[in-house]
Amino acid sequence: MFSHLPPYAGDPILSLMEQFQRDERSNKVNLSIGIYTDGRGVVPVLPSVRTASAAVAETGAPYVYLPMEGHAAYRQAVAKLLFGADLPSAEHLAIVQTLGGSGALKVGADLIARFFPQPTIWLPDPTWDNHVGIFEGAGFKTERYPYYDAQTKGLNFNGMLDKLQSLPKGAVVLLHPCCHNPTGVDPTRAQWEQIIAVVEQRGLLPFFDLAYQGFAESLDDDIWPVREAVRRQIPFFLSNSFSKIFSLYSERIGALSVFCPQAGQAANVLGQLKLTVRRNYSSPARNGALLVAHVLNDDKLATQWRAEVEEMRVRVRDMRVKLASQLKSAVPDQDFSFLLRQNGMFGYTGLTSAQVDRLREEFGVYAVGTGRICVAGLNDSNVARVAETMAEVLRG
Ligand code: PMP
Repeated sequence: MFSHLPPYAGDPILSLMEQFQRDERSNKVNLSIGIYTDGRGVVPVLPSVRTASAAVAETGAPYVYLPMEGHAAYRQAVAKLLFGADLPSAEHLAIVQTLGGSGALKVGADLIARFFPQPTIWLPDPTWDNHVGIFEGAGFKTERYPYYDAQTKGLNFNGMLDKLQSLPKGAVVLLHPCCHNPTGVDPTRAQWEQIIAVVEQRGLLPFFDLAYQGFAESLDDDIWPVREAVRRQIPFFLSNSFSKIFSLYSERIGALSVFCPQAGQAANVLGQLKLTVRRNYSSPARNGALLVAHVLNDDKLATQWRAEVEEMRVRVRDMRVKLASQLKSAVPDQDFSFLLRQNGMFGYTGLTSAQVDRLREEFGVYAVGTGRICVAGLNDSNVARVAETMAEVLRG
């Protein structure tokens, strides 16, 4: 019956994770997967979440199904966090709770594929690998727009803008509002203004994917492009994830928002989102939503959580500075300042895949084949060794 099924080669990043777990070297370092570890190298349970977890357990509420669109207080709190003072009314905003950011991308992709036949999505080159998997899995054709400039190790802004300008009206364009995965390279505010202006003039449909809100500048600054789209009345999709910023990876908690400038349309969009959810997995899980809603709806806990996000952001930035300066001392003829211009959890090192292989095989330092490292996996106990071993492979 199943003899025609080919073997699964495995996900490149998750396979590295498995290989890392089997590695017996005591000084191994995992910089492959996008997980934040604290200064002790441990994935934290945020204190705000710990408090919320106790309060949620205390209620002893029964495990009834959530509605298809998710937990009501969660959806309201998330909408406030995302849109702040620009929060659209329910006439304009359809928001559903999803299984992490991935679930939001999938529900959004399915909805678009149902009502805009033969869809194409333009993804940045490069982008998170699973964007291709999720959108192609939903029936999309995937295309690329220029993004990263390997020469300058920065943004190919002109290439990006030219491509966006050439796209047909209604083209779906995936944009990372901050902390671009995998490069860490983000447009400046002035560049975002131009990008949003082109989106508006050309009538493109942005699909914002926000997995790292708060890890670049701040929770409010990092979502500026999305709020600007609201101010300019541009329709869009927005997926957001609490995996990283609440350290709730396995709870699979996120949301999909659809902004509808024309009043009244959000009701039908919400209805179709519910149907999409119903057809896929019927309704989302409860615990992650209760935790996030409890934190965000309690002023004191919300303030505490904001400080915890800031602490994670600052720690990663410190590690960037340490890595760049130690690399500079070890390889003085090379410039590592590009690492300091990147945002978020990832560093795009410029290491070739052969150099990445050598790092892993000889030194037990795991990075992704593209040269991406998770800076959030560095700490004071491993940063010097990582810099030394990177310097070693860079010297050849
Ligand atoms: N989008 C991007 C850009 C990501 O980096 C990630 C997580 N690696 C996701 C979406 C998915 O997030 P989640 O783990 O919440 O599904």
